[in-house]
Amino acid sequence: MKIRFAEIPDEGMDVMILDHTWFPDRELNRSGPISVAVRLIRKREGGDLMPGSMTIELLMECDLCLDEYHLMLDETFRVDLEVEADGMPAAEEHQCSADEMDAVFLPEPEIDVNSLLRQQVFLLVPDKRMCTDDCKGLCPHCGGNRNDSECACASKMKTSPFSILGNFKK
Ligand SMILES: [Zn+2]
Ligand SMILES: [Zn+2]
Repeated sequence: MKIRFAEIPDEGMDVMILDHTWFPDRELNRSGPISVAVRLIRKREGGDLMPGSMTIELLMECDLCLDEYHLMLDETFRVDLEVEADGMPAAEEHQCSADEMDAVFLPEPEIDVNSLLRQQVFLLVPDKRMCTDDCKGLCPHCGGNRNDSECACASKMKTSPFSILGNFKK
């Protein structure tokens, strides 16, 4: 879905995202309905603003125990859209305000809503994927999931080879 800046009225524009073609199905698994709402607002000094919200349930794999778990994303976001200035030298001195850090520069005054939503969902997914905050992960020795049952490896490790030797002498 592409919207040109000129198509956005002064009072802003609500965009309903009903299809899910924007969703990166190859990288992320969704496990429930998706709800996305976006509003396009013209900025006074040119450019555009895209605040929106996203509610998505994802099926993720825990980094530690490799189990699947459901992650509910229910987030709002805001993207500043600026048009790349034509012929602006790349090395030009530029004071970057904190606000500008989130700016997305577009080659022309046209918003590709799908591609912006894709960027947002990746930003909203946490870097560290954990099924629970206190996931115990897999045992490095037997590979068992330590959330399910505590394996005997930890207690075996405490027994040093010398104590076995000690038993021998008796
Ligand atoms: Zn886990
Ligand atoms: Zn183990």
